Amino acid sequence: MSSPAPAPVPASPGSSSQQRKRGSTESVGMYAVQCCECHKWRTIATKDEFETLRANFTDDPWFCSKRSDCSCEDPADIEYDNSRIWIIDKPNIPKPPPKTERLALMRGDLTKMDIYYVLPNGKRARTIGDVQKFLDTNPEYNDSLSAESFSFTVPKIVEETVSHNNAWKTKKAKKQDKVNASNSKN
Ligand SMILES: [Zn+2]
Repeated sequence: MSSPAPAPVPASPGSSSQQRKRGSTESVGMYAVQCCECHKWRTIATKDEFETLRANFTDDPWFCSKRSDCSCEDPADIEYDNSRIWIIDKPNIPKPPPKTERLALMRGDLTKMDIYYVLPNGKRARTIGDVQKFLDTNPEYNDSLSAESFSFTVPKIVEETVSHNNAWKTKKAKKQDKVNASNSKN
């Protein structure tokens, strides 16, 4: 990677089918952050902790020294390589409001992520319009949930960590066929 990426998330989409059975569609299997000093990757134990540091990433960049048992001298927790699919999040995504959950779901062909919020009524919001509709019909949440606390910004899938995957290759080839077909028409 050319620049130190903010608050990235390595994902193992292989586990998503099991998770779906349990009623969740979260595709991300592991969270990690890159130290702004030594650029090593450190795993983050919980989604909650990850969401907190992602929300404050620009004002409060992450260093190994933030962890009591860790320093820049220690070997990386995880190496950035093609053995798993990496997904890079944008920094400063607000922490999901109470009683909501933000889910990042990988599409089956591995070409795109989708962001959903599970709202306090169990329904899913896919757009800010859905959130607004929920607030309009459930005004009791207007104090605790504000539309600004929702971000549908999708993380970026790092192409070089997914491009050896067959599902991804098939989709990419189909896209290329379309481009070729439309080019030959012209
Ligand atoms: Zn460090």
